[in-house]
Amino acid sequence: MSRPLARLGLTAPRLAARASTVTPMGARAFSASTARRMAAPQEKNEYSNGPSAIDKAAQMFFFTEIVRGGWIVLEQFFRDPYTIMYPFEKGPLSPRFRGEHALRRYPNGEERCIASGIANTLACKLCEAICPAQAITIESEARLDGSRRTTKYDIDMTKCIYCGFCQEACPVDAIVETQNYEYATETREELLYNKEKLLSNGDKAEAEIAANLQSDHFYR
Ligand code: SF4
Repeated sequence: MSRPLARLGLTAPRLAARASTVTPMGARAFSASTARRMAAPQEKNEYSNGPSAIDKAAQMFFFTEIVRGGWIVLEQFFRDPYTIMYPFEKGPLSPRFRGEHALRRYPNGEERCIASGIANTLACKLCEAICPAQAITIESEARLDGSRRTTKYDIDMTKCIYCGFCQEACPVDAIVETQNYEYATETREELLYNKEKLLSNGDKAEAEIAANLQSDHFYR
């Protein structure tokens, strides 16, 4: 180092530091990217653990991939199809499936809801009370014999979230959810079910409802 520089206190390391601060922008960027690249871990060769050259040659020579592909095609050819021809074919449903609602009757034709089981008491309205969607509206009146019956049992099916709480709350299994899920309508009004509609649903599906309740009674 020359004497004048040494007199000014500019030793070799200090000069190197100053040189790095005064390099042009491009040079600084280059040095930064180079440093990043050097700091990054070395990329792993993904082919190092693959099949050996002999294995590859054997696969090419014996067409093993073609044979395996052909075997998969053959398996699929004899396997049952995964799809069904809905609506002509329908998939299995659990007995607990919660579909369209229905009101049931006793075998003598009497309505279960607020009928002889709880005669001379107020309508229980447990389903109306428990419904989280507030989809059920019930009104009742006294009969001549003193028992009460529903005069109105409406369910707004557009509000219903099919939770099944109404069915669980009912002490006499009057309101149930059937396994019918094919009741799409063209208007909203058609989904405002009244008592007659619910009773007719129950009359149509009574055998199925009774069988499902029977198969599930161990768990209820
Ligand atoms: S299934 Fe749930 S939401 Fe629907 S009517 Fe019954 S309690 Fe209400």
